[in-house]
Amino acid sequence: MEDYDPNAMSVSQARQFIQQFLSPISATETLPIRESLGRVLSANVISPNNVPNYNNSAMDGFAFRFSEGVKIIKVIGTAFAGRPFTDELKAGECVKIMTGAMIPAGADTVVMQEHVVVKSENISLLSNIKPGANVRLAGEDLRKGQTVLGRGHLMRPADLGLVASLGIGEVSAYKKIKVAFFSTGDELISLGNPLAEGQIYDSNRYTLFGMLSRLEVDVHDLGAVPDDPNLLETTLLKAASENDVVITSGGVSVGEADHMKTLLAQHGQVLFWKINMKPGRPLAYGKIGNAHYFGLPGNPVATMVTFYQFVREAIITLMGATFQPLPLFKVECTEPIKKATGRTEFQRGLLFDVDGIWKVKPTGAQGSAILSSMSQANCFIVLDESTGNLEAGATVQVQLLDGLV
Ligand code: AMP
Ligand code: MG
Repeated sequence: MEDYDPNAMSVSQARQFIQQFLSPISATETLPIRESLGRVLSANVISPNNVPNYNNSAMDGFAFRFSEGVKIIKVIGTAFAGRPFTDELKAGECVKIMTGAMIPAGADTVVMQEHVVVKSENISLLSNIKPGANVRLAGEDLRKGQTVLGRGHLMRPADLGLVASLGIGEVSAYKKIKVAFFSTGDELISLGNPLAEGQIYDSNRYTLFGMLSRLEVDVHDLGAVPDDPNLLETTLLKAASENDVVITSGGVSVGEADHMKTLLAQHGQVLFWKINMKPGRPLAYGKIGNAHYFGLPGNPVATMVTFYQFVREAIITLMGATFQPLPLFKVECTEPIKKATGRTEFQRGLLFDVDGIWKVKPTGAQGSAILSSMSQANCFIVLDESTGNLEAGATVQVQLLDGLV
């Protein structure tokens, strides 16, 4: 990617561009499974045994040895989960069996309780049963020696249970990366202080805190720094020397109080400044020493959009994870959309249910300072560079904000 223009990159070029500079953390540690939630595995998890460990019943019913044409079978005992029936079954015999109980020696098939008639010591089969029915085979979930979760896997709730099902109590994970952030701007006031004329409360530090807290990283809030080149320089250099990632908001455009560009030119390797997107132009990415620097625009919605579209995936990669792009879905948009061609837009959208079919509409005013639009939204409406104005009923792509796991 040598022929890039640092003042006019497309969203996808910028993503690829950032990716090539990201070398994941190498330090690792051993963690008890619960603490591994949201962390990234640094070694494969190999199954030390078969899961399940023995053939067992998928149903409450009767276990017997299948043989063609047999309709009446003698009940000789009961098998419970955790309390096996220990004798071997002969042809024509069965045991009453509970879900999860071990299939006794000699049996290979289970018939559901609802598909038999019990008469004194015998059952008669009501329907035709297939050999092997309702038996969960040893190793059918996981086989001994199999790689269950690979290095680079980001641990989710199911994975905690999966590792526990193997009898493993600890996993190897990459250490947490350190992420620092601060706001820039003479107008910013921290909570607890009254506002004078022309001042606003610093909200970006709170949205950044919230977004970063969803990732298992060490978060350092360095406060709000006025537009003073010396103070900004000291804060930036200290942050870069102590952290893997430094994020700032504000001060990256070309106004007279926007000092971040000059500072980066002095101390860092500036990789780009502007992206063809809305909101989110300007956006700076560069390196200061070993730290990755993201200079996000100050407008509150732009800060969030650029974090989600660039910073989040960069952090996940630095955490050691194999990054999975978020899915985009095509849905009908019920309202017209104003959009200029030549840039990607991330409008705030509301997905809603119309008689079982999900459709989307923009959340009212789309200004990049209108944070309430982000609060109301449950998705981004992603409109690519070639898209122009759209009429009501057009198909658009959406990216969900809320996830289940
Ligand atoms: P800037 O990118 O510094 O030019 O800021 C663009 C707009 O975002 C201005 O209206 C700023 O007042 C506003 N802004 C910058 N930083 C913050 C912040 N931390 N919290 C809320 N608004 C901000
Ligand atoms: Mg500013």
